[in-house]
Amino acid sequence: MTDCIFCKIVAGDIPSERVYEDGEVLAFRDVQPVAPTHVLVIPKKHIADITELGDAGLASKLIVAINEVVKDQGLVADGFRVVNNCGEQGGQTVGHLHFHVLGGRDMQWPPG
Ligand code: 5GP
Ligand code: ZN
Repeated sequence: MTDCIFCKIVAGDIPSERVYEDGEVLAFRDVQPVAPTHVLVIPKKHIADITELGDAGLASKLIVAINEVVKDQGLVADGFRVVNNCGEQGGQTVGHLHFHVLGGRDMQWPPG
């Protein structure tokens, strides 16, 4: 999608610090991190939000990629959080499906 920030990141038109990539999934550091490690894991294909993720194969690949990221980033021993914000009340601000991977500090629960 031409006016989507994350599609532009996939295309390389907007720079990002990539930490993981395969044929269908990209992970890069959030530009405004809220934790010492804050990575966004996205499908390369434009999917607006998690309610449009009907492809079980792609869903599995996203989870496997999250596992690669948390291992590569050294988050497994101390723990981490994976977040998906969906829709306006869910706090989604970018309309391209993404999972936040957060680690490196204690996480508050419940979130604010
Ligand atoms: P949401 O609020 O939709 O769950 O999360 C969107 C995230 O995308 C935010 O944490 C925001 O900081 C991040 N973000 C927005 N624009 C960019 C960008 O151009 N580059 C990167 N790396 N992250 C972005
Ligand atoms: Zn997109």
